[in-house]
Amino acid sequence: MIVSDPFKGLYIDRWVGEVLHYTGMGKSGDQSIGFMQNKTLAESSVNGVAVHLFEVHKPSVYSYVGPVELASEPYQDAQNGEDGTSRKVWIFPVTPKTGSTKPLSLEALRIEAEAQAKRAKALSDAALKAKAKQSGSTRVGVRPAITQQYQRNPWVAEYAKRRAAGHCQLCTKPAPFSTKAGEPYLEVHHVQWLSQGGADTIENTVALCPNCHRMMHVVGSADHAEKLSAAAAP
Ligand SMILES: [Zn+2]
Ligand SMILES: [Zn+2]
Repeated sequence: MIVSDPFKGLYIDRWVGEVLHYTGMGKSGDQSIGFMQNKTLAESSVNGVAVHLFEVHKPSVYSYVGPVELASEPYQDAQNGEDGTSRKVWIFPVTPKTGSTKPLSLEALRIEAEAQAKRAKALSDAALKAKAKQSGSTRVGVRPAITQQYQRNPWVAEYAKRRAAGHCQLCTKPAPFSTKAGEPYLEVHHVQWLSQGGADTIENTVALCPNCHRMMHVVGSADHAEKLSAAAAP
C-alpha cells in the first residue's frame, strides 16, 4: 500500500498524465532502492505483490485510487531531506491498472490547493523559502481532471459588453486596456452566479473590469450585487 500525501510535506510526488511519480522511503541521506517499501515497489512487477494507491486531497482524508503497477523503471532524482540538504531519492513511476482510475474533479484539486496554500501561509519566511527552493525542480506535474463547463449564451455576453459601452459597470471607470482588435477589455459576469442557479439572461449579466470582476468573486457584497442588478435592469 502506498500513500501519496502532499500534506506530509517531505516527499514531492507528481502526476504526469496517468503516471504518478511516487517518491520512495527514507527521510534523510540518499535513499536506497533496497530499503523496505522501496525494494518491494522496485520488484513489484516480478514479486507478485499487489500495490494499492491512496491519495490525500484533504488533510488526513484518504481516497483509494486503486491497484497500480510500475509504468517504467524507477529512477533517481534530487529532493531535500528532513535535514534540509539535498539528497538522492528514488522515484517510482506507477500507473493505475487499466480501468481502475476514478476521474478526479477539478473541485477536489481546488480544495487540495487551498489546503496547501493555508499550510504555506503558516510557515516562517525562512521555512517558506526552503520549501519553495526544495521544489525548484523544472518538472511540473500535470493531471487530467473533470469539470463542469457552462455553455453561455454568446448573444447575451455580447449584449452585456455593448451595453457597458467600454466602462466597468461597478467602478464605472473605462476598461483598463483594449484587446488586439481595439475593443475595450471587459469581462462578463453574472450577478447571481450560474453555479448558484443564476440565469444566463441580460437582466443577470453585466460587464466588469478585471479588478472588479475578481473582487466580486472573492469578497463581493450584497450591496455590490444590488448595484450590478440595477445596472443590468432593462
Ligand atoms: Zn471596475
Ligand atoms: Zn463572474
